[in-house]
Amino acid sequence: MALVVQKFGGTSVGSVERIQAVAQRVMQTVAAGNQVAVVVSAMGKTTDGLVKLANQISETPSRREMDMLLSTGEQVSIALLSMALQAAGQDALSLTGAQVGIVTEADHTRARILNIRTERIQRHLNDGKVVVVAGFQGISQRIDIDFEITTLGRGGSDTSAVALAAALGADKCEIYTDVPGILTTDPRLVPEAHLIKAITCDEMLELASLGAKVLHPRAVEIARNYGIPLVVRSSWVADPGTHVVAPSRQPKSLEGLELVHPVDAIEFDLDQAKVALLRIPDRPGIAARLFGELADQDLNVDLVIQSIHEGNTNDIAFTVLEANFAKAEAVAAAIAPVLRGDTADSSQAEVFVDRQVAKISIAGAGMIGRPGVAAQMFSTLAEAAVNIQMISTSEVKVSCTIDSSDCDRAISALCNAFQVTCSPLRDASQKSLSPVPEVRGAALDQKQAQIAIRHVPDRPGMAARIFALLAKAGISVDMIIQSQRCRMIGTVATRDIAFTVAQAEAAQAKATVAGIADEMGCGDIVVNDAIAKVSVVGIGMINTPGVAARMFEALAQQRINIQMIATSEIKISCLVAEDDGVRALKAVHDAFKLYGTEKVVVPA
Ligand code: ASP
Ligand code: MG
Repeated sequence: MALVVQKFGGTSVGSVERIQAVAQRVMQTVAAGNQVAVVVSAMGKTTDGLVKLANQISETPSRREMDMLLSTGEQVSIALLSMALQAAGQDALSLTGAQVGIVTEADHTRARILNIRTERIQRHLNDGKVVVVAGFQGISQRIDIDFEITTLGRGGSDTSAVALAAALGADKCEIYTDVPGILTTDPRLVPEAHLIKAITCDEMLELASLGAKVLHPRAVEIARNYGIPLVVRSSWVADPGTHVVAPSRQPKSLEGLELVHPVDAIEFDLDQAKVALLRIPDRPGIAARLFGELADQDLNVDLVIQSIHEGNTNDIAFTVLEANFAKAEAVAAAIAPVLRGDTADSSQAEVFVDRQVAKISIAGAGMIGRPGVAAQMFSTLAEAAVNIQMISTSEVKVSCTIDSSDCDRAISALCNAFQVTCSPLRDASQKSLSPVPEVRGAALDQKQAQIAIRHVPDRPGMAARIFALLAKAGISVDMIIQSQRCRMIGTVATRDIAFTVAQAEAAQAKATVAGIADEMGCGDIVVNDAIAKVSVVGIGMINTPGVAARMFEALAQQRINIQMIATSEIKISCLVAEDDGVRALKAVHDAFKLYGTEKVVVPA
């Protein structure tokens, strides 16, 4: 007999009729011979309504009382669903997070799950009952403090469900929602968005800004760490939905369930060489031209970084396998003169190369929404006296290029700081076994602002100071880019560092950085919130030359200028002007043929 955890979101239990329909669905699963534990959210917009009520009483309600208040929503829906099951003849009972023993940290409104007791649920399941568990809530338990009701943060029921599946050793976890599954992009922006049949946990995490509304990233993190097969599907129809594929199941202690290290791997690649085109014109089509040429030569590029600079010029730097270095350099050298003389500034366009580079990365889902992880990487490298040449970040990865001779020192310092073992990167030359699409989905983030700090002295510890300060102010940084261009200010070599934060935090971020910029000897701080970030994600791009070229070409065809580029192995992100955002997303979605033939119906 299989054990299934089913989770139903707020819309799915939004009315009496819907709760009855959910009961029917649960009973079908029971009738098919399964034991079923159900996790539910609060009905409809209940949680929003409770937040509003609280804000009418106080602008700064205490987080403890918020948890007390918000946890009531799920208590209503579990009782009603249990009643609906009983009324339909199915033995069932409801349990709050505390009754189950969903033990969390004491950190109100954003607690992480530490452990889940399973004896009681298992006993009821063995008695033939359906157990209906309140999502989003738990209970804190420490010897030195009293029991407290906690919540996991908005959207946290998904996390409850997957954690429960991990604790129970369930055969699978099904997330029922009001959309058909995970789509290739946001259907409100691109009507041709198509259902993704299967996606890996890593891809899902990199698409966090797209997928977060459908699936809580922490839920994906647990599924990945415990190897839980996860399905996201519609509550209204019987279609199979999207399979979120996890690595195979690892026997793993439940202790500290969600308290995994924010970083779960240090990856390095000693075998890289860097090619940079400096002072090339800042206009549409340049990146497309360069990477198109590289793709034509079948050269697979790894990191791609472009940042913003003063004047009308940009630098684009990329890394390739050392073995491909000579060919890549030749391509860059052939293109540079064509670009030269294009504008007054770019008359100095030149190629810069370095064969002695290593790439070192920290990876882990735990860094999402946890400011300070990148800063910790930078400060660890600084303490080990390792200078960072380039930085490129994605949702779940921070990569730096450093001098090859620093690599051993960097690895041991980082493994020590994050308490993980290191592993060399997948052999990039190895072709993947099964054919996977290069690009699985595309996302647009229009809520970010870009901040550039000019002329940051190029010595160990600068990035560490900047990002530690931002982390201390509680500001989450999304993309971080340090580019290749080095500029002499007097006798000091400097580089620009650019990053993005939520628009709402841009002013605070600027003020925070301004506090030390002078003292550190940095130049101006420039904020631009009229930007959008468009990204493509897919594990297939690891072994496929030309993916970046296709993305840049799609943007060039639309005459869209790329302001910054950052990549990880499975993601390419470009910053473009805000007004170009939707057009950029459409162009990219189209270029990778992500559209489907069947129309996906998405309720308003
Ligand atoms: N009811 C909670 C919320 O709206 C938890 C959830 O629905 O996942 O955030
Ligand atoms: Mg949700």
